[in-house]
Amino acid sequence: MIPVNEPLLNGNEKKYLIECIDTGWISSEGPFIKKFEENFSLKTNRKYGVAVCNGTAALEIAVEALGITKGDEVIMPSFTIISCASAIIKSGAIPVLVDSDLNTWNMDVSQIESKITAKTKAIMIVHIYGLTVDMDPVLALAKKYNLKIIEDSAEAHGQTYKGKPCGSFGDVSVFSFYPNKLITTGEGGMILTDDDTIAEKLRSLRNLCFTAHKRFVHEELGWNMRMTNVQAAIGVAQLERWDESIARKREIGKLYTELLKDTKGIQLPLEKTDYCDNIYWVYGILLTDKSKNAEHTMKLLAEKGIGTRPFFYPMHLQPVLHKMGLYKSETYPNSENMYNYGFYLPSGLALTNEQIHEVTTILKEILI
Ligand SMILES: *Cc1c(COP(=O)(O)O)cnc(C)c1O
Repeated sequence: MIPVNEPLLNGNEKKYLIECIDTGWISSEGPFIKKFEENFSLKTNRKYGVAVCNGTAALEIAVEALGITKGDEVIMPSFTIISCASAIIKSGAIPVLVDSDLNTWNMDVSQIESKITAKTKAIMIVHIYGLTVDMDPVLALAKKYNLKIIEDSAEAHGQTYKGKPCGSFGDVSVFSFYPNKLITTGEGGMILTDDDTIAEKLRSLRNLCFTAHKRFVHEELGWNMRMTNVQAAIGVAQLERWDESIARKREIGKLYTELLKDTKGIQLPLEKTDYCDNIYWVYGILLTDKSKNAEHTMKLLAEKGIGTRPFFYPMHLQPVLHKMGLYKSETYPNSENMYNYGFYLPSGLALTNEQIHEVTTILKEILI
């Protein structure tokens, strides 16, 4: 079986983990956390990094820290992971959806302005699968209407928009370090910001809103979303291979494209746009031969030992959100097309070139 994702842990991960055990620092106290926060925020040109237990938690307190609450609206893509909608809904606000662009698979930014109302407080942008959202129009709208930007950069470690790092565009920007991401800590996440007050708020929210002056006296309610020193130890080791990992992701993507570019019936990821070169967080394909569909094709690949994942199931089709009375009569055709016909191939950093050859050979056989 060629797994859809296998992480690479071949640097100082083991050494730093042993250090955690030898020193007894295994909780959310310990030197690796600060180091990981500092090193990661440096990579993304941000003032503050606040490490948490996963990317979903990061989104939740990012929304909370901006003061988004009941009665507010936040604009976001329909085509993304549930964590995005979930974070907004849990704050009491309503996610307002836009469709995706069929070429870049990212949010169609030309649809945002028509969704802005007096209740809109923020735009949540999500960089999808390796290309970035077209940020300039989004930043212009945020300025014009005085909206906050929440940047979900969980799939865009090391990616840049017009030369500026992803993770540097939001009032709050969020990363995940799940094992399928470019940098992993097993489970983990981080929120980045340049704002002193927001950073302070985030630290408080992740740590039960303990007050500094009186232990066990609380002015507000928070969560325990702390990252452990053990997770951060892995993260620090992973960051040492930042450039290598980025280069390898691009190599994997380029080799897939090279091997698949003449294959009929599929749309490949764009190699670049006017504002970014694809970093191929995952190598997605979209079936253009509509006599096939993603589900069946993935099943045939699985029978041949190739692991795949479907594309996201759009938010406007989610049963849980319908039950809340949301989106029942809304349609976003590109997101639906992407779900029905899109999936991604093995894309992890441990993937070998031989495996990529095998995947593409089998895929081509199946698509005939
Ligand atoms: C992975 C991912 C998340 C969630 O991160 P977890 O660490 O798995 O909670 C959020 N947003 C996007 C776009 C992701 O790809």
